[in-house]
Formats: sequence, structure tokens, C-alpha cells
Amino acid sequence: MDFALPDEVRQLKDAIKKFLDREVLPKERENPELCGEGKFSEELHDLGAKIRKKSVDLGYYTLHMPEDLGGGGLHHVGLSAIREEIAKSGTSILGIFILGDPPMGPTGMLRECTDFQKKKYLEPLMRGEKTTCFALTEPNAGSDVAAMEATVVRDGDHYVLNGSKHFISNGPYCDFAQVFAANNRELGMNGGISAFFVDADTPGFTRRLQRSMADDDFQAEFFFEDCRVPAENMIGKEGFGFLSAATWLSAERLIVASNAIGMAEYLLNLGVEYAKIRVQFKQPIAKFQAIQWMLADSATEIEAARWMTYHTAWLIDQGDMALKEVSMAKLFASEMCDRVADRVLQVHGGMGYMTELPVQRLYKLARLLRIGGGTSEIQRHLIAKTLGL
Ligand SMILES: Cc1cc2nc3c(=O)[nH]c(=O)nc-3n(C[C@H](O)[C@H](O)[C@H](O)COP(=O)(O)OP(=O)(O)OC[C@H]3O[C@@H](n4cnc5c(N)ncnc54)[C@H](O)[C@@H]3O)c2cc1C
Repeated sequence: MDFALPDEVRQLKDAIKKFLDREVLPKERENPELCGEGKFSEELHDLGAKIRKKSVDLGYYTLHMPEDLGGGGLHHVGLSAIREEIAKSGTSILGIFILGDPPMGPTGMLRECTDFQKKKYLEPLMRGEKTTCFALTEPNAGSDVAAMEATVVRDGDHYVLNGSKHFISNGPYCDFAQVFAANNRELGMNGGISAFFVDADTPGFTRRLQRSMADDDFQAEFFFEDCRVPAENMIGKEGFGFLSAATWLSAERLIVASNAIGMAEYLLNLGVEYAKIRVQFKQPIAKFQAIQWMLADSATEIEAARWMTYHTAWLIDQGDMALKEVSMAKLFASEMCDRVADRVLQVHGGMGYMTELPVQRLYKLARLLRIGGGTSEIQRHLIAKTLGL
């Protein structure tokens, strides 16, 4: 067994690190008001668009997309390593513009695009000129996607869309959304859910900012009222939009795992450094076994999560769907990151709670990882199914 990352991945990781050090982290330091607490805004998006443009020019932005669509075709092991590197840098917000991952960028689901859709939607996404979002979740249909209430009805050369979505990341800023709606509520997942490109300025489509605990202004609610979408905007076959989405949703779970590992590594470094300099009872708190154990447990769990994730990525690269392993990696890495964030905040004492330091911001972000991309309970449910339960 060879546990070493391939040479080309190590070189790419180094190149991404240099890009972060040269183009991304200095911009965050120069714009503390805009970037410090990781809040999105139109202004922030303008700054991010410049980073995205550079990333497109260097070929990083679409590394995750298949080569036949003009992407880098990088394998999952490589992508996991790069996502980890970006999260590990401690970027407060601009790092999200480097790789065109969901929700803003192009995804493998768009493989199903027609020539018209490639020109109008996919290519501008690949060039980083437009951003999108993935609008699946509804007020009454979260984990239970098949309970979706948004509907589409064919009317001549259009579909008429009615319903609502919520929690949609990049929803406030996207140029167009990828929206899921039921063409037949009886059929549910088996031919009942279709997907569409919906331009943000389509009459009958309105959106409203939805504030979260992270206070990052990144989510929106969507409302569709007799919103007429051209039939040529349907992604894939009628009734099978969710099936194509499900294929890449599985890969999205690996994205969560890699981000969790990188974020936890950054947190661990903060904890170790703080423990060495914070003096109480006339000695650095790093001398106390209680502190050492929190950090040692964190390091151990990060290591375990990393190998689970790389192994899963490797399985996918061998052509295995690795459904059980993807769920296990997402579950373990997200819960690990949440525990690490909690411990590192504790190591910082009251300072960890103050906005002067990034720990509290990461603590809030880490909490999301157990919910987004399928909750921990849903991952356990999927793992249990593979055990025949
Ligand atoms: C910040 C943020 C960003 C998001 N971004 C997007 C986005 O861009 N696009 C998008 O479409 N969605 C997005 N989501 C939605 C996210 O995917 C859902 O929140 C998630 O899938 C859970 O759905 P829910 O919130 O409706 O919870 P529910 O499904 O209502 O679940 C509530 C609780 O019940 C548990 N539960 C549900 N079913 C079961 C079961 N069968 N067995 C055991 N426990 C169960 C859940 O685990 C959870 O603990 C985002 C959410 C957040 C918070």
C-alpha cells in the first residue's frame, strides 16, 4: 500500500498554498471590515470575483470538472487534498472563490446540459463570469426530499413553477439558480422531480436574505409564483432531475469531509499556539494535562478523519460509488471538526468567545457541517441501510 500523495497532487497543493499566500490571505488582511468575520455582500463578491478570475486563468477554478467539459479532471484524492489545504489556511471567506465547488460554481451534475445550456449556463460558470446555487430544500421538505411541494406544470414551450425554497447558499447573489420541483408528486424520486435553470431576473421569482447563526448573509429564501421557465431550461430528463443531482450530492459529502479536516487542522494549530503562550498559575496552560489531552485527542481524530476521507476518495477514483464510506467520512469528519472547534474554544477560555479571534467564527461554521449535505442522522441512516438494517 502506498500512502503518499502522487507527485502532481503535492505540486498542486504547493501551488494552491502559494496562491493563498499571495492572492487571498493578504486581501483578507487588507480588508478586515469586509472579510474579517466572513460575511458575504455585493462588495465582497466583487473582491471575490477578482480572485476567481485569477483562479480561472491558472486553471484551478475548474479542477473538479471533467476534462470533456473543459475542466481539469482532477481525481478525488487530489481534490480532497486541495480542499483540505484551502480550509487549513484559515481563510475567513475569500478562499471559497478559488475552487468552483458548490454552491457557486459548476458541478458534475451539469454534464447533462444540452448544447444551448452549455453556452448559456455552463460556460459562463466555467469562466467564472457567473455564479449559481442549488435550490432543493423547502420549508416542509428537508431530509425528506421526496416530500417536495414546489411544482412545475408544462404549458406550451414553458414550465410554470410554483412553490418556495429556503436556506439556499449563494441564493442572495447567484445569477441563476438550479431549482428542483415536482412534475409529479406521486412519483417522488422515481420520475417525479425535475431540475431547471432559473435566471435570477425571471418574472415570478423573488428572493429574500435569510440570516443564520454564522451571520454570513449567504443564504436566501426563494419564492416562485407562476414563474414561467422556458422548457429548454430543464436539466436532464423530466422527472429525473433529482437522480442526477443525487450522483454529485454524494461527492458533495466528500467536500464537507475535506473542509472539516482542513478547518480542524487550522483550529488545532490555533489551540496549540495559544496553549504555549497563555500563562496561568505561573506556567503556560500547555503544561496542564487537561489542555494537552484536548489537543492530543483533536490531533488523533483529525488523523483518523483524514485517512477515512482519502481512502473514500481513492475508492471513488477506482470507480466504486463508495456510498457507505462517503457517509462514514462525512459523518466522522463533520462531528470531529465540531468536537475540535469546541475543545479549541475551551483551550482559549473567554478569548475563544470574543470576536477578536477567529475561533468563535469557526466554531459556528463547524456546527453547520453536521447539518449541511445531509445531517449526521441521515448519514447514520444510510450507513445502517448498507448493514442490511
Ligand atoms: C447554512 C445552511 C446552508 C444550506 N444550504 C443549502 C443549499 O444551498 N441548498 C439546499 O437545497 N439546501 C441547503 N441547506 C439545507 C440543508 O441541506 C438541510 O438543512 C438539511 O438537509 C436538513 O434538512 P432540514 O433542515 O429541513 O431538517 P429536517 O429534515 O427537518 O431534520 C430535523 C431533524 O430531524 C432529523 N431527521 C430527519 N429525518 C430523519 C430520519 N429519517 N432519521 C433520523 N433523524 C431524522 C434530522 O437529522 C434533524 O436532526 C442548507 C442548510 C443550512 C443550515
